[in-house]
Amino acid sequence: MHIFDLFMEFLYPPRCPSCRSYVKHEGDWCLPCMQKAVQVHPVALPPDSVLEKVWALGRYHGTMRRLIINLKYNGKMSALRSIHKYITAATISLRLPACEYITVCVPLHKKRMEQRGFNQTELIFKKWIAENSKDFVDCLERTYFTQRQYKLSRTERFQNMQNTFSLKTNFNAAGKVFLLLDDIYTTGATMESCARHLRSKGAAAVYGLVLASDA
Ligand SMILES: [Zn+2]
Repeated sequence: MHIFDLFMEFLYPPRCPSCRSYVKHEGDWCLPCMQKAVQVHPVALPPDSVLEKVWALGRYHGTMRRLIINLKYNGKMSALRSIHKYITAATISLRLPACEYITVCVPLHKKRMEQRGFNQTELIFKKWIAENSKDFVDCLERTYFTQRQYKLSRTERFQNMQNTFSLKTNFNAAGKVFLLLDDIYTTGATMESCARHLRSKGAAAVYGLVLASDA
């Protein structure tokens, strides 16, 4: 461990992000809180969905919601350590498709990327992708700047997301299987829009994986 981290741990002993009890390392959760928080489950998809299946590693409430908001809207990188530990624990019980697939993060529009400075989904899953040698390709881009979604109704969200994504030039999706990654799943409009575009470009199948779902 880096000497600076040791010094910081001495000044601020690490605590569980949920119950604030002392833990061994920065980002650790205490066992009862982790066991309570991890809820790997398939997301209920709309009947006209083009996605094969979407898994969520947890629910978008409580500690997980706070960690995601801290990272995404307050730029608190410290939240990432707890999120990474969570993903390590949660993915033990995750059974992904038993075939070769390409992982791809739902992209942000260039303008949003400039505002925020990072794509939270990339930060969330980067460690998991590296540790599990996943085939990761940055092949999607967001071509339209969409309004923030949280104030919109379900129908408005789906309209807002139409034709929002496109494949980067020269990337051939034909016959490939994709695993789309995103931070949260709410109405599914974003993921559905990505999947529709990939399927229209010949993708054989599109699966999804999100950190948390409130659906
Ligand atoms: Zn705890």
